[in-house]
Amino acid sequence: MSDITILGSGMAGYGAAYHLTNAGQKPDVYDKNSYYGGHTNSYSYEGGFVFDEGPHISFTKDERMQNILAGFIDNQFERLQASANNYYQGHWIKHPAQCNLHGLPVELITQIILEFSQLTETDMSEIKNYEHWLRASFGDTFAETFPMPYGEKYHTTTASNMSTEWLGPRLYKPDLEEVIQGALTAETKDVHYISNFRYPSKGGFKSFLNKLPDYANLQLDHKLIALDPATQVLTFKNGKTLDYKKVISTIPLTELIPMIKGVPNDVRAAASLLSCTSCVIVNLGINAEELTDAHWTYIYDEDICFTRLSFPSKFSPQNAPDGCSSIQAELYFSDKYKPRTRECDEYIPMVIADLEKIGILKGDETITLKDAKLLPYANIVFDLDRAAALDTVQGYLRDIDIQACGRYGEWAYIWTDESFVSGEKAAETALSSI
Ligand SMILES: Cc1cc2nc3c(=O)[nH]c(=O)nc-3n(C[C@H](O)[C@H](O)[C@H](O)COP(=O)(O)OP(=O)(O)OC[C@H]3O[C@@H](n4cnc5c(N)ncnc54)[C@H](O)[C@@H]3O)c2cc1C
Repeated sequence: MSDITILGSGMAGYGAAYHLTNAGQKPDVYDKNSYYGGHTNSYSYEGGFVFDEGPHISFTKDERMQNILAGFIDNQFERLQASANNYYQGHWIKHPAQCNLHGLPVELITQIILEFSQLTETDMSEIKNYEHWLRASFGDTFAETFPMPYGEKYHTTTASNMSTEWLGPRLYKPDLEEVIQGALTAETKDVHYISNFRYPSKGGFKSFLNKLPDYANLQLDHKLIALDPATQVLTFKNGKTLDYKKVISTIPLTELIPMIKGVPNDVRAAASLLSCTSCVIVNLGINAEELTDAHWTYIYDEDICFTRLSFPSKFSPQNAPDGCSSIQAELYFSDKYKPRTRECDEYIPMVIADLEKIGILKGDETITLKDAKLLPYANIVFDLDRAAALDTVQGYLRDIDIQACGRYGEWAYIWTDESFVSGEKAAETALSSI
């Protein structure tokens, strides 16, 4: 048994449990859901379709994590070379757009290259926001045509209201030669940060968590509703209370903070400034062979309701019955910037109509599965409020000795492997202070 209690059984909770069990202290892991896995859950539908909670692929380049994850599924995974493309006003171009302009209108390409060739060195310390960074990196026309409208669909706020801390390798910065080559030919080298990926052969992405019960005493259907740092008591919705010594939490900070007894007003106010998108995923099972060569597609047009499409049947043949294929569309909202105005199911016909508009569906396929799900937490919005608000919240959590980790505990744009490592680090810190 461990003196450390873990809240949440997603990838971060798994990382923490893995570390503690390997240190000889198998922990109790509490989750509000009746299943474990958090965002890495997968859904198996009648008829043989499997969908994840948003497209999930494992593209970590960290060899240690690759080996850990492969071990969790006994090396039963698909190895795929990533293929991503972009849709813009009837044009299909390779990803990333900035060095794959081939196929776009000639005037647009000319203007983008002219501006790109005239860019001057910018002192990055003077960059004010994401919009400023985009204009300085790619020129006005490219910025205004591609990443700015896409960003607004994906992050739900304008580029001028966002910082650049989240960028990492996400937006490739080509040199002029690459931009010109990509305008002249569609045969360009692959430069996207996701070059290849792994995906479990069976059972969807969730299979990576099949061994979690070996590392954790799972306590499902336990929704935390109160945490008292003074008496060190956790209270769950089902009536259970628990004395704790150390807590690792992967619960979204915006929910955790208001649950803490005696939380100061400034911390509560800071937590309320943190923003995260929600996502409606629309899952479609199609009675037709693969509809595209891409694994996923970015959609720039504002009048197309979805931001990104992915094709789970291309991740593993086990994700769809023989002769069928599948599509998952993502539509983004946020309470702070773009509240959702419809029930999830109402987006299904809109998605189908827009798939026909862009030509992915021809209109003569049989759609054998239609489903929509809401992910209340999707991507952290790196708006200009985030950094200061997060400092206040994290400082307070350190003071009351709560280790917050994972995507919604760190309030960061981190992937599954990074969430796992975040959990491992939280466990290490908790163990070292017992
Ligand atoms: C649309 C989308 C696509 C993504 N694609 C990829 C990808 O391709 N590859 C990749 O590596 N990563 C991807 N990610 C990121 C990945 O999902 C996260 O990094 C990771 O799953 C986060 O794990 P976590 O444990 O931090 O959070 P979660 O999985 O959210 O776990 C938190 C857990 O806490 C539980 N919980 C919440 N509140 C309470 C409460 N009050 N009481 C008890 N339990 C509670 C939840 O039920 C949940 O199980 C994607 C994310 C999204 C949204």
